[in-house]
Amino acid sequence: MGIEFECDRCRSIHYVNDGPVAYYALADGRAFFGPHGTGWCSRCRLLSEVEAIPDPEVLQARLVELRRLPDNDASKGMLEHWTTMLDWSRIRKESPRCLRCGSLNFTPLQQTGECLVEMGEEETRPFRHPGCGGVFKVKEVVFAQPMGKCLTADGQRLDHRWDGAFVRWVRRLSCWLAGRFG
Ligand SMILES: [Zn+2]
Ligand SMILES: [Zn+2]
Repeated sequence: MGIEFECDRCRSIHYVNDGPVAYYALADGRAFFGPHGTGWCSRCRLLSEVEAIPDPEVLQARLVELRRLPDNDASKGMLEHWTTMLDWSRIRKESPRCLRCGSLNFTPLQQTGECLVEMGEEETRPFRHPGCGGVFKVKEVVFAQPMGKCLTADGQRLDHRWDGAFVRWVRRLSCWLAGRFG
């Protein structure tokens, strides 16, 4: 599943995957789909899927709660999953990356209602399309099968390479075209 965001000024349309895309393979053989978020990547110059590495303290609190649940297959599975996530969040050294081009330079965004917002020091404010000034709003929720990406614990790609300059340009062009002719 994914979401199309439309800029209310330039009308360009940016598509962001919502389904599981970041598949991590740890050195010890464990593998899992990690969480991800939406961000503005300054290298792609697009809204993009970005890594969202959980805070070990939050994961630990969740594990404490899970251990209180009755012992069955479901709770065992969840315990295993969250333990793996905790181990990963502890061995992870590098900052989160854009899941398209691998850049570390992006602004993490949240969806509030129909609008994309960024966290300030104290408050959240609508995120403004850089160089344009418009605000991104949800246009449509799209049901599509996301393409998974295999990553190491540190977010390096295992399968193939990050989007290069040409692919990033094609993606920007298609956002612009979708706003006009889509
Ligand atoms: Zn715009
Ligand atoms: Zn990027």
